[in-house]
Amino acid sequence: MKVLVAEKCGFCPGVRNAINLAKKTLAEQQKVYSLGPIIHNEDVVRQLSQAGLSTVESVESIPEGTALIRSHGATQQELETLHNKGLNIVDATCVLVKRVQKIARQLHEEGYHVVIIGDKNHPEVKAVVGSAEGVEVIGDESDLDKIFNHKKLGVICQTTQSPDYFATMIGYIGKLPFSEIKIINTLCRETKDRQEAAVKLCRQVDIMFVLGGLHSANTRKLAELCKKHNPQTYHLQNREELDINILSGKRVAGVTAGASTPDEVIREFVVKLEAYPV
Ligand code: SF4
Repeated sequence: MKVLVAEKCGFCPGVRNAINLAKKTLAEQQKVYSLGPIIHNEDVVRQLSQAGLSTVESVESIPEGTALIRSHGATQQELETLHNKGLNIVDATCVLVKRVQKIARQLHEEGYHVVIIGDKNHPEVKAVVGSAEGVEVIGDESDLDKIFNHKKLGVICQTTQSPDYFATMIGYIGKLPFSEIKIINTLCRETKDRQEAAVKLCRQVDIMFVLGGLHSANTRKLAELCKKHNPQTYHLQNREELDINILSGKRVAGVTAGASTPDEVIREFVVKLEAYPV
């Protein structure tokens, strides 16, 4: 089978940096704890766990040693608690996520009511909410009621959302009666490039595969976008999940992967597809 891989896919610089920092820290220290899964990829989390990385869900669960902050970041309160406990902190928060947190604080200090467009359950959004006072999350049109009765509105976005979604939400917000709305584009270029490359590719192939963790927001978003343009789109975690029966009658397959999917997973998947006779 002919296989085409998206021009841009797989690890982004923020995730690569977090994994490298985790490996370096594990090589130098014992008792290393990650606050939440280091990335949304089970294979990588398992490998790092075998190398000694413990994953905990709250700062209270870190008794001693080193706390590793993942690329999605942590709230101000969590960081303060870690400091107060006297723990060593290794901060792998992506620089672009730090920028969103900084902008949220600045907007708040300038008197804006800050809203972040995104998924309220995503760790990055939770960390932004916890980095400045009164930040509201707008996930869809139904959340707009939350932001009445404020004069100055400051709008930012979760880094991994799509430009289309951002534009749609800005369209809704723009119709609200505010005397001032300040919009800062905090979308990540890496995400945008992956989405554009995926959409371009999925239009040219008979079947499209999006590889990555089922909890990875950016991977899910890639799959959602590809499905819109090519209904024959499948979101899988790795080659083990590929049922070759779905390849029947297809000649060209496209492959892309989320920002937390290792190169090795992509390579192995492509090899399996290429071996399928057409
Ligand atoms: S997707 Fe973008 S913002 Fe998120 S970790 Fe990667 S580089 Fe940073």
